[in-house]
Amino acid sequence: MLVDNLEKINQDIRLACQKVSRSGNDVTMIAVTKSVGNDTAKELAELGIENMAENRVDKLLDKKMALKSFSSIKWHLIGNLQRRKVKSIINEIDYFHALDSLKLAEEIQKRAEQQICCFVEVNVTGEESKHGFRSDEVLDFILQLADFDKIKVVGLMTMAPLDASEQVLHEVFSQLKKLQTAINNQHLSFAPCTELSMGMSNDFPIAIEEGATFVRIGTAIFRGA
Ligand SMILES: *Cc1c(COP(=O)(O)O)cnc(C)c1O
Repeated sequence: MLVDNLEKINQDIRLACQKVSRSGNDVTMIAVTKSVGNDTAKELAELGIENMAENRVDKLLDKKMALKSFSSIKWHLIGNLQRRKVKSIINEIDYFHALDSLKLAEEIQKRAEQQICCFVEVNVTGEESKHGFRSDEVLDFILQLADFDKIKVVGLMTMAPLDASEQVLHEVFSQLKKLQTAINNQHLSFAPCTELSMGMSNDFPIAIEEGATFVRIGTAIFRGA
């Protein structure tokens, strides 16, 4: 089941890439394991999945411990992070996808032992309920990180509205791509901003068409499994 689902997802990734003449190698699938236990995560690791994500600190630490024999796995924290939890997680992960305030950046700077790859979270549609900076705040925020040597802004991350039409999804993702390109064009050493973390089970082909380099996929992997 997992194998079939993964094969289908990989095929959809390839097709979306072909549609816009991108190389499939430019897109990394991150398996979001928040809805499954350690045994299922282990099965994924055995199938060669090398990027895993959780949205909660305690669950990530638990999975990482259970999968410690798979030392090549890259761990992604994709959910919002409370400042008081930074200390326990920041040196356990490879990527953090939800940098959403200067206060959080300050805590990361204080606690990280080495440089950590971060995505700045953007609330493209400005929905009240969502974390992340508005598009027009992102560059100013990133410029404030110039002296934070523990933070490398590798890219931008967004979550599209849940029930959006395809047209709206295209617009949201292409706006994030534009913003990423604008920041990348600033040639900031601390913020290369070459990556785009966008696209989930229901919208990843559209995200890839618009330039996603990391897609975060949960449900589609575990469907029927
Ligand atoms: C749960 C989650 C995902 C995966 O969502 P699916 O719809 O299950 O693919 C992606 N990103 C974030 C931030 C999540 O919390």
